[in-house]
Parts: sequence; C-alpha cells; structure tokens
Amino acid sequence: MRCGGVAPGRFKVEERIKQALIGIVGEKNYNDSLIDMVSYSYDASEYKHRPSCGVWPEKTEQVSEILKLANEEGIPVIPRGGGTGLTGMAVPLKGGIVLDLNHMNRIKNLSIEDRLVVVEPGVIYDDLVRALDPHGFFFPPDPASSQVCTLGGNVATNAGGVKGAKYGTTRDYVLGLQVVLPDGRIMRTGSQCIKSVSGYDLTKLFVGSEGTLGVVTEIILKINPKTTASTTALATFDDVEDAGRAVSEVMHSGVLPAVLEILGKEAIMAINQNTDLNLPEVDAILLAETDGYTQDETDYQMSIVLDVFKKKNAREVKQAQSEEEAADLWAARKSAYAVLARLKTHQVLEDVTVPMSRIADALKGIQNISKKYNIMIATYGHAGDGNLHPQFVYDGYDEKQVKAKKDASDELFRMAVDLGGTLTGEHGIGMQKARYMCWEHDLVAMDVMRSMKRMLDPRNILNPGKMALDEE
Ligand SMILES: Cc1cc2nc3c(=O)[nH]c(=O)nc-3n(C[C@H](O)[C@H](O)[C@H](O)COP(=O)(O)OP(=O)(O)OC[C@H]3O[C@@H](n4cnc5c(N)ncnc54)[C@H](O)[C@@H]3O)c2cc1C
Repeated sequence: MRCGGVAPGRFKVEERIKQALIGIVGEKNYNDSLIDMVSYSYDASEYKHRPSCGVWPEKTEQVSEILKLANEEGIPVIPRGGGTGLTGMAVPLKGGIVLDLNHMNRIKNLSIEDRLVVVEPGVIYDDLVRALDPHGFFFPPDPASSQVCTLGGNVATNAGGVKGAKYGTTRDYVLGLQVVLPDGRIMRTGSQCIKSVSGYDLTKLFVGSEGTLGVVTEIILKINPKTTASTTALATFDDVEDAGRAVSEVMHSGVLPAVLEILGKEAIMAINQNTDLNLPEVDAILLAETDGYTQDETDYQMSIVLDVFKKKNAREVKQAQSEEEAADLWAARKSAYAVLARLKTHQVLEDVTVPMSRIADALKGIQNISKKYNIMIATYGHAGDGNLHPQFVYDGYDEKQVKAKKDASDELFRMAVDLGGTLTGEHGIGMQKARYMCWEHDLVAMDVMRSMKRMLDPRNILNPGKMALDEE
C-alpha cells in the first residue's frame, strides 16, 4: 500500500455531455470558457489544474442529476465553495466538472427558539454572522477567511479559527446535513435536535471529508448566544519556549480563554515592517482574550491568565485599556499572513497541531528546522488549541530553496506526528499533505478510509486525487 501522490489526468467535455449538463442547470448556469476554467484551476494553495467545465446548480435535485450523469460517464466532479482552501482541496487534479455551489446561498430557517439555522452550502460565513447578530447569537468557528469562504466549504474542511480552544470547530456545530451521494442519491443525516445518538454518526463522517464522499446541499447548524463582555491582553517573552510553556499552563489553570494566540519573532518583525502597529520586538508575543457576561468576570479570568504569563518569565504583560487598543492587537495578529506573504516570491502556510503539553517542544522544533534548512519559517497561530501556523517564506524560483522548503516540510510533519500531534488542525489534507497521511494514520485506518471511499464512490468521481484515498 503506498501513501500518497497521484498521476494527473484530464477529461474533455464531449458535446453530448455539455448538452446534458445544460439540460440540467440551464444555459446560463453552464460555463466552459477558458478564462473561467483558469479561475477554477486553483485555490489558495500552490496547486493548479484546469477543469473542463463548471456548473452552478440552484437546487439539490440538480446536484443529484449532475452526479448521476457524471457517475454513469465516469467524469470527475469537484465541489467548490469560495475556493479559499490552502491545501489544493478544490483543485480539479483530474479535470472534470467543477460544481460551484455559490448560487445555493439561502438561509432557509433561523430558529432562535431551537438555537439553530438551516442554510444552503453557498452562504458566505460573514453573511450568516450578519444575520445572527441582531438576535444576539453567533456561529463560533470564525475562520480568518470569513469574508469569502462558504459554509459548505467550512463543513467539508471542518474549519476552525481563533476561538477553537473554547468554542471548538465547525464539527461541534453541525447537527445534520443533506448530502448528495456520488451516484446521485439524496440522503439526510442527523436531526434538528441538540442531542441525538440515533444510528451511526453519518453527519460527522461528512464533516472534514473534503468533498470526497458527497456534496453537501443543506446544513443544520447549532448557534450560540453572544457574550457581552471581554478583556484583551498581551504578554511578551524573550524565549519562545517560555511562551509555549505559558500556553500549556494557562490551559490547565482552571480558566478557558476565548482566544490565546502566539506571534513568533519573524511574524512580529514582518508586521512592524509593514504596519505602524509597533509591536515589541521579542522572541514571542501571546495575545489573550477572555469573554463572558460581565466585565468583572472577564477581568477576573484574565488576572489568572496574566499571573501564569508572569510565572513563565513574561518580560511585560499589558491589558488593553480600550476597545481601540484591543482592536489594534487583533489587527496585528490578523495581518500576519498577508505581511509575511509579501516578503518573498512564494509562501506556504501550514497548520500542524500538537497536544497542549507539547507546544513548547513544537515551537523549539520549528526554530531548529528553520536553522537546519536555512529557510524562513515564521510561526504564529492558535496556541490555545495547539494549532500552530508555521508559514514558509522563500524564493520559489531558486531550486535550492524549493528543495530546502520540501525537506523542511517533511521534517515539520514528522516532528508533529512524533509529538503525538496531527498533520492539520483546520486547513485539511487536500493534495499538499496527502503524502504524509500514513505517517499519522496506520495502514489499517488508511484501509478503512479507502474502503469507505470505495463503498460510497466506487467509480472515484468525487474530488479524486485528494487525501491519499486513491492509492492501494
Ligand atoms: C487568508 C486565508 C485565511 C484562512 N483562515 C482559515 C482559518 O482561520 N481557519 C480555517 O479553518 N481555514 C482557513 N483558511 C482556509 C479556508 O478558508 C477554509 O478551509 C474554508 O473552510 C474553505 O471554504 P471554501 O468555501 O473556500 O471552500 P473551497 O476552498 O471552495 O473548498 C474546500 C473543500 O471543500 C469542498 N467543498 C466545498 N463545498 C462543498 C460542498 N457543498 N459539499 C462538499 N464538499 C464541498 C471542496 O471540494 C474542497 O475539497 C484560510 C484561507 C485563507 C486564504
């Protein structure tokens, strides 16, 4: 059994298939123009491959008809939301039909009484936030791409964000789904109940399945009441390992911050070079936010967090004195990806995740890998749930640096797995990490995953070439 890697392939749309697709979605919702196929050939990763055509279904029955046709003809189908994935998940590696779900973007039901919403997959994350806000509710996963990513994409990738340590990821909020299977059958999973243990948990099987098992056409999401008070603070450290130890200790100190983010030295320097935020130039900064319903409560929680920071050798701890000051700190954190991406011709953002007790080891390990391969790895991320974002910044036109990047990535993922961690906390496997899958999952687990894929998709039409599922 091999671990990953797939041969590229291509499907060309024959006229009769084109006409059949137009018959299902209508002429205005079919597209095979070169310019649009180039747009569908990439996502936010480094991978590219052109599809043959794109369709915009408007209802579940159309998705079902498209999959029935594709299954009979053996044509690859690639579901697509916002195309913001970072690991090549929505790249049509074997060509075929891009199933663009952006036209299915209705919020079908918002029930505060039942604490849930029923949405179509093309709803943009921030549009849901705006719909919930007047009711005093929110949907917590909060990926940084929230302005453009879709809820269907969030479900298919199990998206998370800065509040993961306290509020969890998308998986924790999906109560039920409507899914179209690769042969066109339409299935409902889960229920509108907050609790259910009825049957196998098919809902969770589809969350994080990266469009390889079925197309999500309706989602039932649990929603949370918004908190009304928060406290934000910053701590600086001369040694990134001390910052890592501080994070581990906060997480068993009895309080659970809503946010606990880390910014490493390279990220701090890049932010200072590109903004006027003037962050202290230290080895690491921790940013924390506590939330609740009264200011006293959140200040009390923060006092415990700050005591831990001091005990772990923080050089300076500083509580934000105003909303503007807090907003500046979050602006600094949010700018990290973009300012680092400007430094060199190429960048790749990783998202290895380790157990809470191993964060200091992981941070030190990343520094060592960076030195060993002489490549810039700027680390920041959601330290509160062990999810680190080492961002490789390099010159992709220099062969030596490309090789160093590859070798350093291999070592990074080996280290994460050896620390008891995982290849990905939120960005998924896609194409980028397929070759590492059997480092984390044993051969029996890989065999079970591949058997499930074969059972639901025997002709391998749905998003083929991802997650190392195609290998024997
Ligand atoms: C600047 C930036 C910041 C980011 N920050 C975060 C972050 O904080 N947290 C995080 O988790 N991710 C983050 N991401 C990654 C990305 O935004 C998420 O993975 C997001 O969930 C992808 O949603 P999308 O709609 O863009 O999906 P796409 O990229 O279009 O697709 C992603 C995968 O989902 C599948 N898919 C899409 N819709 C469906 C559907 N209806 N049914 C079945 N399969 C489907 C696709 O086939 C593909 O495999 C970030 C990306 C960028 C560029």
